[in-house]
Amino acid sequence: MSFLKGKKALVLGVANDKSIATGITRAIYEQGGEIALTYQTERLQSRVEKLAQETGNGPTMQCDITNPEELASVVEKVKQVWGGLDIVVHAIAFAPREQLEGNYIDVTTKDGFLMAHDISAWSFTALAQAVKPILNPNASLLTLTYLGAVRAVPNYNIMGIAKASLEASVRYMAQSLGTEGIRVNGISAGPIRTLAASGIKNFRDLQDKASAITPLGRPVTTEEVGNTAAFLSSDLASGITGEIVYVDGGYNVVAGGA
Ligand code: NAP
Repeated sequence: MSFLKGKKALVLGVANDKSIATGITRAIYEQGGEIALTYQTERLQSRVEKLAQETGNGPTMQCDITNPEELASVVEKVKQVWGGLDIVVHAIAFAPREQLEGNYIDVTTKDGFLMAHDISAWSFTALAQAVKPILNPNASLLTLTYLGAVRAVPNYNIMGIAKASLEASVRYMAQSLGTEGIRVNGISAGPIRTLAASGIKNFRDLQDKASAITPLGRPVTTEEVGNTAAFLSSDLASGITGEIVYVDGGYNVVAGGA
């Protein structure tokens, strides 16, 4: 199967081999898509370039999502190289580590609240605004979220509130862009051991408890999230927009655990 043949994808959020964005990049490549990648700082450049070499040698660019000039130059480069974009994947989130530990009311600050929202939620709208002029017909925008958006999860704290804003953004962006044929969706992934996840206190415990009651009885993988992302980004999902699709082994539909 090559259901993304000829599609041009921009993926933001690869930090290393364990990143969800890496699983998504590989899945898009396996389905015939071409991929441009970004990295936040030079520190990650060589890792991202290595992934690019393994997945079709597309362009790689530096982009701190809070820097409008860097975002604009990513759009300009993609325009020069490809002319337009079919797929955009936003796999970016950040909150200060000390606010992902302990009682929400006690540990949350205004600065932390604003930073989490800026990087983890607002950035998806900012990205959509930046790429809109170069989106091809039937383009797809996709973001990554977590159950902490709709349930209070210990230690997830401010990130849960930012994810709630992100999920609402998915719905408003879907409505805003739908008449132009652009779809916007989110994947709510189950807990996966990544760099970002390691910033959440007792993450391993959270993952173990989830696995114990998850219908599939195990954590999901970045490959599984990647395959769902490839499907949602493809014309096979042409009737799906404004949705949060759970890739969590069924955890969100059961009760009785953490
Ligand atoms: P990850 O590998 O650490 O990826 C997070 C990425 O966000 C990193 O590449 C990070 O770059 C980037 N980032 C942070 N601030 C940025 C900024 N200002 N500009 C540009 N990039 C920035 O962790 P991940 O788990 O794959 O996370 C990807 C997405 O999946 C996130 O939205 C996360 O909330 C979501 N998610 C994760 C899980 C899970 O259990 N892992 C579950 C559900 C949803 P640096 O490394 O340079 O900071």
